[in-house]
Amino acid sequence: MIANEYSSAAQPSTLHTILQEVFGYPQFRGPQQAIVEHVTQGGDALVLMPTGGGKSLCYQIPAIARQRAGHGVTLVVSPLIALMHDQVGALHEAGVSAAFLNSTLTGDEAANVEQRLLRGDITLLYAAPERVTNGRFLSLLDTLHTRSQLALFAIDEAHCVSQWGHDFRPEYRALTVLHERYAGVPRMALTATADALTREDILERLQLQDARAFVSSFDRPNIRYTIVEKREAVQQLLRFIEREHEGDAGIVYCQSRKRVEEVAETLVQAGVYALPYHAGLDSRMRQDHQNRFLREEGVVMVATIAFGMGIDKPDVRFVAHLDMPKNIEGYYQETGRAGRDGLPAYAWMAYGLQDVVNQRRMIDESPAGEEFKQALRGKLDALLALAEATDCRRARLLAYFGESYGDGPPAAGPPPGGHGPLGGQRGHEVPSVGATCGNCDNCLNPPDIWDGTDAARKLLSTIYRIQQSSGMAFGAGHVMDIVRGKTTDKVTQHGHTALSTFGIGADFSEIQLRGVLRQLIATGAVAVDAQAFNTLRLTEQSRAVLRGEVKVALRESVSTPTSRKTKKTGAGAAAIKAPIALDSAGLARYCALKAWRSEVAREHNLPAYVIFHDATLAAIAKRAPQSLDDLQGISGIGAKKLEAYADEVLRVVGAL
Ligand code: ADP
Ligand code: ZN
Repeated sequence: MIANEYSSAAQPSTLHTILQEVFGYPQFRGPQQAIVEHVTQGGDALVLMPTGGGKSLCYQIPAIARQRAGHGVTLVVSPLIALMHDQVGALHEAGVSAAFLNSTLTGDEAANVEQRLLRGDITLLYAAPERVTNGRFLSLLDTLHTRSQLALFAIDEAHCVSQWGHDFRPEYRALTVLHERYAGVPRMALTATADALTREDILERLQLQDARAFVSSFDRPNIRYTIVEKREAVQQLLRFIEREHEGDAGIVYCQSRKRVEEVAETLVQAGVYALPYHAGLDSRMRQDHQNRFLREEGVVMVATIAFGMGIDKPDVRFVAHLDMPKNIEGYYQETGRAGRDGLPAYAWMAYGLQDVVNQRRMIDESPAGEEFKQALRGKLDALLALAEATDCRRARLLAYFGESYGDGPPAAGPPPGGHGPLGGQRGHEVPSVGATCGNCDNCLNPPDIWDGTDAARKLLSTIYRIQQSSGMAFGAGHVMDIVRGKTTDKVTQHGHTALSTFGIGADFSEIQLRGVLRQLIATGAVAVDAQAFNTLRLTEQSRAVLRGEVKVALRESVSTPTSRKTKKTGAGAAAIKAPIALDSAGLARYCALKAWRSEVAREHNLPAYVIFHDATLAAIAKRAPQSLDDLQGISGIGAKKLEAYADEVLRVVGAL
C-alpha cells in the first residue's frame, strides 16, 4: 500500500512546512497530521470529521506534497459547483495552483484548464461528479494516468453516495469508475456525516473497505444548543435574534419554500438583513443571495435545506430551525455550519406538535418501500427524543453518533450499540446519558420536570373509548377537549360527554396535555393518521403506557418573555466586535484592517474571509506590527499572503 518513493514527501517535517508556509498555521488540528501523512504516502482513507473540523487541509496538503514529489494532480470531487470558484480562489490566495471544471465555464475556459492540466500546471482540480464520469473527462484522466500524473482522488461530501445520507446524489454512485479504471491511485472520502449506516454505505459503494478510517470527535464545543417549544415561531426567532444576534450572520432553516419567503419578509420588516434561498428561486438569484451571504457582513439567510452544504463561511454566528428537520444527521449537519471559526455560536430550534405530525405524514405519504419508511421513522424518533429530552443535548447528540461525551471519538468501525441495520434508534430508547456540558439549554437551565404518566394514560384511554363507542377516530384538539371536560359543539354532537373519560383530566392545562400528546406521538405510543384528517389512533406501544409500565417525563413549559428588548439608541450600525480583547487603539487598527480587507476581497471577487479571517486581523491589530518581522508567525498568514499583503497591512496599521 505504501510506496517508498513517496516517503520523502510524506516526512512529517515536509508536511508541517507546507502547513506553515502555505496556509500559515502553526499546528495541525486533531487527526489532521495522521491523515495527511497516511494519504501523502499513498494510503486510502475515510475521513469523518464534523463541519469546521478542517477537512480541506486533509487533502490539500497531500495534494501539494505529492505534486512536489512529481505525482501530478489531485482531483477533488465535490457537488458544490456554486462554491468551486471561491474554493479555488482561496487556494490561489495561498499560492497554490488550482482550477475547476464545471458547467459555469465557457468552452474556451474549460479547454484552457484542460491544457494546463496536461502540462502538469495544476495541483488541485475541482470537478462535480457528473463531469468526472463523462467520456471526455475520462479520456483526459486516461492520458494523465498513462503518464502517472494522477496523484490522488479526494471525494468530498462522500455521504452523497448513500441513500441513508441526507443528501443522496445518484451521480456519486458512478464514481466507482475511479477505482475500477485507475486502480492504484490513492483515494480518500471525506464527510461530516457520521452515522454508522451512512459510513458503511460509503465504504461499500466507493469500495473503500481497506481504507484507513479516521474518525474525529464530533463534538462542537463552541456551539450552544437550544430547543424551545414552538408558540409563535417567527416572533420567538425575532426575539432570539434581537437578544443575542443583532448584526450577526446566521442561517434560518424552514421546511417549505413558501415559508422561507414569508419568514424572510417578516424578518426584513423587523429590520433584519434577511435574504431568501430555496430551489424554486431562479439560479441567478440563488447565486446572488449566496454571494451576498458570503461576501457581505451580517446577512441572515432564510432557506430550505437546499442551502448550506459546503458553505465555509467561518463566522456564521447562529443557525436556527423554525421547523424540525427530518433527522439528527440533518440537524447536526445544518447546525454545524455555525461557528466554524471556533468562536461562540448558537444552534436554536423551535419545535411543536405540528412538526411531529408533518414529518410523520411526509414519511407515510412517501412512495418509498415499507422497510425504508420504517428506517426513516426510526431516525425521526431519535430527533424527537432529542427535542423532548430534559438532559444534556450535547451528550445525546454525541451518543447518537456513537460517542460518549467527554470520551472523545469512538473507535473506528460502527459505533458501539449503534443503530440497527435499518438505522436510527427508537426515540424512547435513546439512553439518558447523565453528562452535563454546560453549554446547552438543559445544562444551563435545567428544566423542571413533571410526571405526565397519569395525563398520558387519560389521553390514551380517551382515544380508546372514542374508538370503541363510535368506531371513529378524532384529532388532537377534540381528544383534549374531552379529557378536559369541555362541552364544545363537536363534543356534544357526538355524545362524547357520556364517555367515562369525559373531564377526567380537567385539572390539566391544554399546554400540558399538548406536551404529553406530543411526546406520545414522538415515541410512537399514538399514531397520527395523515390520510384521515390527522386523527389519533392507538398503537402497539400504547399498551405499556396504559398499564403504567412506561413513565412519561415532561419538561415544564417555560413561558418565554414576550417583551422585546428595547432597541439600542444612537449609532444605527452595531459596533464592530473583535474576536479577542483589544484596547481602543487596537480596535481602531482592527476596523481599519477590516475596511481594507473588504476592498481587497471586492477587487478579487472573493469573500473577505478568504483574504484573512477575523481572528488573523485581530491578531495583527493586537500585535501592532512595525515591520515585516512582526507579522511572522501570526496564524493565517502564509508565505504568499505575507508577500502579497505585508506592505499594505503595515501601511493600514500605520507602520509605514
Ligand atoms: P470542514 O471542511 O471540515 O468543514 P474546513 O476545512 O473548511 O472545515 O476548515 C474549517 C476552518 O478551520 C477553516 O477556516 C480552516 O482554515 C481552519 N483550519 C483548518 N485546519 C486548521 C489548522 N490546522 N489550524 C488553524 N486553522 C485551521
Ligand atoms: Zn449540555
